[in-house]
Amino acid sequence: MKYFSTRGAGPVTLDDALRLGIASDGGLFLPEQLPSFDVASFSAAETIPEVAQVLLQPFFEGSSLSGDLDRILAETFSFPIPATRLPVTGHDVSLLELYHGPTVAFKDVGAGFLAACLSRLEGNVENPLTILVATSGDTGGAVAAAFDRRPGMRVVVLFPDGRVSERQAHQLSCWSENVLSLKVQGAFDDCQALVKGAMADPALSAVHRFSSANSINIGRLLPQSTYYADASIRHYRRTGRRPGFIIPTGNLGNAFACIMAREMGLPIGPVILATNANRTIADYFDTLEWLPRASLQTLASAMDVGDPSNMERLRHLVGEADVLREQLGVLSVSDAQIKASIRQDFTDFGFATCPHTATATHTYRQLDSKLADEHDWILVATAHPAKFETIVEPLIGESVPVPAELAALLARPAHAVSIEPTLASLATVLG
Ligand SMILES: *Cc1c(COP(=O)(O)O)cnc(C)c1O
Repeated sequence: MKYFSTRGAGPVTLDDALRLGIASDGGLFLPEQLPSFDVASFSAAETIPEVAQVLLQPFFEGSSLSGDLDRILAETFSFPIPATRLPVTGHDVSLLELYHGPTVAFKDVGAGFLAACLSRLEGNVENPLTILVATSGDTGGAVAAAFDRRPGMRVVVLFPDGRVSERQAHQLSCWSENVLSLKVQGAFDDCQALVKGAMADPALSAVHRFSSANSINIGRLLPQSTYYADASIRHYRRTGRRPGFIIPTGNLGNAFACIMAREMGLPIGPVILATNANRTIADYFDTLEWLPRASLQTLASAMDVGDPSNMERLRHLVGEADVLREQLGVLSVSDAQIKASIRQDFTDFGFATCPHTATATHTYRQLDSKLADEHDWILVATAHPAKFETIVEPLIGESVPVPAELAALLARPAHAVSIEPTLASLATVLG
């Protein structure tokens, strides 16, 4: 399989697309063409790694990694991804639980797969590959967990000191010697500027082999299609119907993976994007004008994106707004609605949802009755509520039980080095 940039550059191999992350012309990599499947293609596949093997094999044709795909998938899908029926009377509605990985959020899947691939392609004990990641919370933990203890690989996590929750700070700082955690005396934008500055600095690049584990890397998207394939096939086998999906959306990586699975022939019905107050996508569908803007801070902070980068992939694959809005729904959910939805979920389902997941449950409750009656629905849960306990617990008036994966992390010792938001401070700690 060959890969091309959304802006035309290419072709490159999968190995190079994984290594480069972003294309030389600034575009995003997509496969030359998508393979086609039907439900029967997966008749011998029972587990998620087995579904992934069938689905992803064509993408690995010609890659040096293809002989290792089964081991890469076993490493990536080392935890369950169940779809659990919700108690909604008269309707078939499930919650796709993407939060059973090491940092209890869905980014564990993409980060784990990318780490399994990159360590095979680029791992070098003499001169490790240094992955730089600026994070406002979720991404850094998932990337650190994925590369933790991988020989020949090093991770440097930069987060804004005092601007992530206590539990998040712990999850960013509790790893082995190959992960360096830096609490930057500044804002998230300073962390991002430091990563860009370091990668562009000739003196630093002469000493270190830098890379990023950016969410636009095709290696983060491919494995995400797998859980949509698995959940839709299971649902189809059980009911004979194609379920709709409602997906909490920020940078559009998770939802793009679902749309890609539908394009490949998986039994997926309507797809609806649930965003927070950042209305860029909703306004695009309304006005047909693409107007990226600065992001607004919301309770669903991992979705605070004003310029969703994967829209470029979506427009390339499906079309412009007039086509897209025929094929996708979108609803922008306010902070007040997120709060109300977390309370309502606790009442209706007997457990709490995280602020991101609550945008999807709110969107489900707003469906017009025709859509709600004509389709079964799978609501996507992107993180465990215990990760956002300072928001969730006051709303439900109870503490959220901490899942075993998170408890194990919180029990580890944590250590982060404080740096000033300057390239000189970063250079010193990089060694
Ligand atoms: C990253 C993230 C999202 C948004 O996913 P995108 O792929 O950026 O659309 C939603 N929820 C949680 C918990 C996240 O960490």
